[in-house]
Amino acid sequence: MEALSRIRVVLVEPTHPGNVGATARAMRTMGLERLVLVAPREFPSEEAWARASGAEEVLERARVVATLDEALAGCGLAVGTSARRRSLAWPGREPRAAAAEAVAAAAAGTEVAFVFGRERTGLTNAELDRCQALLTIPTVPDFRSLNVAAAVQVVAYELHLAARGAPPAEPPAEPPATADELESFYGHLERVMVRVGFLDPDNPRRLMRRMRRLFARARPERTELNILRGILTAVERCCGGRGPGR
Ligand code: SAH
Repeated sequence: MEALSRIRVVLVEPTHPGNVGATARAMRTMGLERLVLVAPREFPSEEAWARASGAEEVLERARVVATLDEALAGCGLAVGTSARRRSLAWPGREPRAAAAEAVAAAAAGTEVAFVFGRERTGLTNAELDRCQALLTIPTVPDFRSLNVAAAVQVVAYELHLAARGAPPAEPPAEPPATADELESFYGHLERVMVRVGFLDPDNPRRLMRRMRRLFARARPERTELNILRGILTAVERCCGGRGPGR
């Protein structure tokens, strides 16, 4: 179960405190302890505590942050969740497969996040860009949207089962690049692509999303990302002071 201590649940802008409390309870029953709230509308709140019914400790230890980037700091694997199919598919997973992957990564020392969206509007594409995989809970086709705490419960249950059956922790392999390192890399990549005239900032189309998808599939290790950054820096140096970019 040790792997579960490296897995955090992130709720992005939850509106109803009751859902935050129900999430804490869903987590507590399955051995998940780390809740991160991104800009909750009301927290702490009496209703959240009431709905946690015994899982107050999860709420007391919950971390409140202002942005998703802060919530994902240090994470080597972030799994976004959505009821909707997205136009340009992120690598998709069902809960069981996502849980097995997450528990294996966490057992090897990687920090993992499962990211849940707003009650009304879910996660934006820009937020899903921060994730390496997209989890969808299979449902009937004409009603796909679960209550957010119910979605957390399904995922937490699968994590619990996966952790129960997991072999003892392996020594960490090469650490994967973390969310923060990936974000700096994407920023660097974008600057260089603009600079060499490959990416037109006035007409970027979906180039960056495609790049993100490629690297989400590849799941680069930190050393590999450092090599790529080194190449980008060399390209910048090669371009000298003035490039075609702005
Ligand atoms: N209309 C929104 C629904 C949000 S439901 C949308 O289309 O995304 C609130 C949150 O619950 C979602 O952001 C997601 O995190 C989770 N959720 C609800 N149903 C889900 C499903 N079938 N699979 C995965 N996550 C789901």
